[in-house]
Amino acid sequence: MTTQDQLSFQDPVTRYRQISPPEQDQPEPGFDAEITPKADHGEESYRGTGRLEGRKALITGADSGIGAAVAIAFAREGADVALNYLPEEEEDAQHIIDVIRQTGQKAIALPGDLRDKAFCEQLVEDTVRELGGLDALINNAGKQVISEDVTELSDEKWVETYETNIHAMFRITKAALKHLPAGSTIVNCTSIQGYNPNPVLVDYASTKAAINNFSKGLGQQLAPKGIRVNAVAPGPIWTPIQPSDGQPKEKLPHFGQNTPLGRAGQPAEIAPAFVFLTSPESSYVVGETLHVNGGIPTP
Ligand code: NAD
Ligand code: MG
Repeated sequence: MTTQDQLSFQDPVTRYRQISPPEQDQPEPGFDAEITPKADHGEESYRGTGRLEGRKALITGADSGIGAAVAIAFAREGADVALNYLPEEEEDAQHIIDVIRQTGQKAIALPGDLRDKAFCEQLVEDTVRELGGLDALINNAGKQVISEDVTELSDEKWVETYETNIHAMFRITKAALKHLPAGSTIVNCTSIQGYNPNPVLVDYASTKAAINNFSKGLGQQLAPKGIRVNAVAPGPIWTPIQPSDGQPKEKLPHFGQNTPLGRAGQPAEIAPAFVFLTSPESSYVVGETLHVNGGIPTP
């Protein structure tokens, strides 16, 4: 087989090895620099073909995990990228920014806390100023922290999960709409949890169901303006959200092994879904949820 053949013909079961992460714990937000094993964001593997040439993208949660893989893929496809993340995630973010700058595309660092309404609005304005516009929004940042018993789930944590996953998406989207020209796209990150909620994630899973519903409603509202809204629903993807109390620690060694593919997904495997929904090749796809979950059936 030539190298080309090997890249275009791969067994999905063995493309990545089945991982069995050791029990580990990090404070929230977790850091990619500290997870075991390391995740693949496509640093070595993602090959662009000009599908997002000239696009100007804002990606939240772009320092690590899925957002980091999307940022690398977008840059390799020819987009300039503004990356939002929490200030304490600077080390992870700098790694991704270095990878993007090697492509020759712009990578703008815009750290800040999305629970702050004024920051959400400022983030959009800063993106537009730094990139000279905005035509691709990826609402990817999210908070996922387990809670075994709803009576012990504090009001404060409930509100924080909704502020991070829902309110920020609404506020950023609303601010972005002042700038998005026809042809722009919004892709929101929902989850398999929005369909099959884990009993220890009732706050998180319910936000993901809401994100899905919001995307389908807004997709219809904005379609006549030439702005497409879609969503991606990941299954178990190995990222720092999992070992920072996104899962019970004792479940980590089996993470993702109950999927039909028998293994967890890597961030690099989900980025192409965001590329597809952002590129004009998906021009007739609106209000869709693209499942990238190793084959778990959804209701
Ligand atoms: P991750 O920890 O790498 O990314 C989440 C990011 O959210 C963090 O890097 C952080 O920058 C950002 N974030 C959290 N709170 C924030 C705040 N207050 N202000 C600014 N940024 C904040 O983990 P990930 O798994 O790549 O998560 C990305 C998205 O994917 C999330 O929306 C998550 O719900 C979704 N998702 C992940 C999985 C999975 O298995 N990993 C499955 C389904 C959905
Ligand atoms: Mg992070």
